[in-house]
Amino acid sequence: MTRTDCTAHALHEALIKKEVSSKELVKAFYDRIDAVDGKTKAYLKLLKESALTQADAADQRIACGDAGPLTGIPIALKDNLCLEGVQTSCASKILEGFISPYDATVVSHLKSAGAVFLGKTNLDEFAMGSSNENSAFAATKNPWDLACVPGGSSGGSAAAVAASEAVFSLGSDTGGSIRQPASFCGVVGLKPTYGRVSRYGLVAFASSLDQIGPLTHDVRDAATVLNVISGHDGMDSTSADLAVPDMTESLSSKLTGLRIGIPKEYFIEGIDAEVSTAIEKAIAHYRALGAEIKEISLPHTDYAVATYYILATAEASSNLARYDGVRYGHRTANPKDLLEMYMQSRSEGFGPEVKRRIMIGTHVLSSGYYDAYYKKGQQVRTLIKQDFDTAFESVDYILTPTAPTAAFRSGEKTDDPLQMYLSDIFTISVNLAGLPALSMPCGFTKNGLPIGCQLIARPFDEAGLLKTAYSFEQAHDFHERRPQVV
Ligand code: GLN
Repeated sequence: MTRTDCTAHALHEALIKKEVSSKELVKAFYDRIDAVDGKTKAYLKLLKESALTQADAADQRIACGDAGPLTGIPIALKDNLCLEGVQTSCASKILEGFISPYDATVVSHLKSAGAVFLGKTNLDEFAMGSSNENSAFAATKNPWDLACVPGGSSGGSAAAVAASEAVFSLGSDTGGSIRQPASFCGVVGLKPTYGRVSRYGLVAFASSLDQIGPLTHDVRDAATVLNVISGHDGMDSTSADLAVPDMTESLSSKLTGLRIGIPKEYFIEGIDAEVSTAIEKAIAHYRALGAEIKEISLPHTDYAVATYYILATAEASSNLARYDGVRYGHRTANPKDLLEMYMQSRSEGFGPEVKRRIMIGTHVLSSGYYDAYYKKGQQVRTLIKQDFDTAFESVDYILTPTAPTAAFRSGEKTDDPLQMYLSDIFTISVNLAGLPALSMPCGFTKNGLPIGCQLIARPFDEAGLLKTAYSFEQAHDFHERRPQVV
């Protein structure tokens, strides 16, 4: 393994033993980015100058014996997270030229920890999409097969880690945007419990569903990053005022008395045979460890995608109303009056998928339709949450595929929004219920594409979730494989 292929915990060891400096690491990562990013297109923006300054500061900390686990580690940020003084584009033309006036809380935490920001990664415009094909600037490719999509919307963040262009990255997950690309790119992706991580400085898509989380090479790194970014924040009233346990502490302790639920509604027609086989093997792993495997029912699963596309679009239509040409980014040239300025700025600035979502969201909130759609959606959301509450009375974790298929080919679903929406069928309910969930690599297709397994936990049980995932990961070598990007 070269340095750029390593995990944060391996590089931390190398840094504190002075086998390598953060500055050398940063240079190695930019060399790697120069070599492969023309193919993967994981990054929208590189931050070479500030990264080298941050690396120098990290090297000084290391020299003083003051290094934490992320000090000097080169990382990437999804370009819907604010980094002070740097453009946040959300992969949208409407934010062109918008410079973040402050750091997101997760960014402040990572800065204090001494991490080094290599750049901002590509995404579907405003995090709306499952393939990265909705970015206004570039389509990120899957490092395992450049003809395939990396998933979305955190596709740039997942591809950057998979292709060894960053040690880890942050993404955001509203309906699966961390877990589905993690699954497609063969990395670990964690969506924390709603409220575990502050959303301050994350550009809002659907505020009641959005969470920030890590994409990493392995489970230990996910635990380490979560330790750093979690916690209550006065700037986000929905962040939970709860103690954050050390997520790494019990990783390697033995699993005992484990009960894992397999929801029968998730093993549906349309799920790829190779995905089913890999998931069966993951279930067999836990059974062999002595876990009790139980079939469970989440009876409202069928309504999850429809519910999500009502509630997420409703919230998006409201959140995106602020992009009106007045305060942020793009403003149309020479409008004849104020109304035209609003309309033209938005028409020119937003791409087709964002416009589709704003129109759906505005419709479901409009008088006459509010009760039929939005209110009904909220009621069904409660039923979906109750399904999980009931299930968690008899099991500790729920195991499912992360997505029904491995990565699909670029262009395959672009003409059919409904097909695209269905690729998140297994991840969306978790956001509606506010639960923590993780995707980890659990196999490969015969064509060499990664397959992801999703584990879902009770609210705020990320520590147990990570420990359960770790036991599978350590018994396999999927997390050690790296794609040949050619
Ligand atoms: N793919 C889903 C969507 O298009 C989820 C996106 C996300 O989690 N940000 O809305």
